[in-house]
This record gives sequence, C-alpha cells and structure tokens, in this order.
Amino acid sequence: RPLVRVEQVSKEYAMGGEVLKALNGVSLTVGYGEFVAIIGPSGSGKSTLMNILGCLDTPTSGKYWLEGEEVSRLPENRLAEIRNRKIGFIFQNFNLLPKLTALENVELPLIYRGMKGAERRERAMEALRKVGLADRTRHRPAELSGGQQQRVAIARALAGSPPVLLGDEPTGALDSKTSGEVMELMLELNREGHTIILITHNMDVADQAKRIVRIADGVLDEGGGAACISP
Ligand code: ADP
Ligand code: ADP
Repeated sequence: RPLVRVEQVSKEYAMGGEVLKALNGVSLTVGYGEFVAIIGPSGSGKSTLMNILGCLDTPTSGKYWLEGEEVSRLPENRLAEIRNRKIGFIFQNFNLLPKLTALENVELPLIYRGMKGAERRERAMEALRKVGLADRTRHRPAELSGGQQQRVAIARALAGSPPVLLGDEPTGALDSKTSGEVMELMLELNREGHTIILITHNMDVADQAKRIVRIADGVLDEGGGAACISP
C-alpha cells in the first residue's frame, strides 16, 4: 500500500465564464521513504497539487488515497484532522508565530492533537534537538536567522511524527549557503526514513531529491521515456 496514490486528478477553477484547468489528469504514487521533488515553472499547477496532496483542497475529479484512505471527497473538518495527523508542512516563509518561542511554535501541532504539557514539551524538545536547535528553544523567530527559523519550522513539521513531510519551496527565502544546509537536513531526515515531497521551481533543489517529477500546464511528466529502457 503506497503512502500517496493520486489517480487522474483534475482541478478546475471557474474564471468568469471560462473554466481553467489547473491540473489535468494527474497521477502520482509515492512510497514510504521516498524523497520526491515536483518541479515546474510558475503557473504550472504546483501550488494546486501541493494543496491537494496536503489535504488543504480537494480535486474536481479523480481520486487521492493517503495511506490507503480515500481523502478526495472529505468535508473540511475531516480534512483538517487528516492534515494534523498525517502531514508535516514546511513553507517558504516558515509561517512561525512571532510571539511564541521556538519551543512553543513546535508544540503547536501537538496542542491541536490534544497532547498534554509534559509529554508535549518533551516531544517538541526532541524535534528541536533533531534539527540542531536544542540551544535555541526560548528564542522567538525574530531572534533567529532565516536558516534557524526554517529549522524550527521543520521541527514543528516533525513533532507529531506525520508519515509525510510536504515542503512548498522550503529554501525559497534562503541564501544559497543556508539553503544548502536546509537541504542537507532534509536529506538526513530522508536517510532516517522520513518521506519527503518538495514542490519547487529551482532545479538545484530538485536535483538533490531521489526522484524528480516535472509539472507543466497541469500535467505531470516523470521524464525518462525511451531513455529509461535499460540495456
Ligand atoms: P504554480 O504554483 O505552479 O505557480 P498554481 O497551482 O498556483 O501554479 O496555478 C496553476 C493555474 O491555476 C494558474 O493558471 C493559476 O492562475 C490558476 N489558479 C490557481 N489558483 C487559482 C484560484 N484559486 N482561482 C483561479 N485560478 C487559480
Ligand atoms: P484547526 O481546524 O484545529 O484549527 P487547522 O485546520 O487550522 O486546524 O490546522 C490543521 C493542521 O493543518 C495544522 O497542523 C496546520 O499546521 C495545518 N494547516 C492549516 N491551515 C493550513 C494552511 N493554510 N496551509 C498549510 N497548513 C495548514
């Protein structure tokens, strides 16, 4: 049973009298432990696909199974539950709450799950240790560098041990050195068994993934074709 199975998914937006097909018959299977980059230019449908994979939106047609459960037609309250249990989100702009400390930011998804004080703090600490920020737990986001803020966000994504980490241009706001360090951390997490799906328009980022899927005009292309046939 694959972690992610998307079959013939389309997403249409009504634009005045027109219908715009942001995704057109997309199929994608991702197994546990994979590190996949989905790369495409602006307007190709990346965010639309990310929103569907992250259960933030549902397809117009087609089906999506997450860990074997069909999630393509669920109401918002069920989707919110699935997001909280199954998806660790990592965003370009970190999306940390400025008034909370690093530790409190990492505790947030655990609060949503109803986890109580001591256990919650221990889990959050463990996640911060994993990203190398055990000595920054009381800092607020503004007191941390961009790379450190993204590592807090990664710790937040990890805290609830979701089966998949979903990154939307996670290095997009970082300089190239810091961005390399964040990718190195993602590779390390993947080596430890975490499944990672990244959405990016940056080939240098995509190149570090184990598998690259291209998207253009709402259509996926795994590449290869004839070149894939082994001798
Ligand atoms: P990307 O993330 O690759 O830039 P998007 O998924 O944001 O691509 O957009 C794909 C296409 O769908 C674009 O033509 C975009 O204008 C359109 N689109 C995206 N979101 C909406 C929306 N909420 N309403 C209407 N059109 C949208
Ligand atoms: P609740 O309904 O309990 O307030 P939310 O729907 O706000 O829960 O959030 C559930 C999970 O989904 C959280 O872990 C949150 O990080 C994530 N989430 C919610 N909204 C978004 C969003 N717009 N983009 C990315 N992740 C989101």
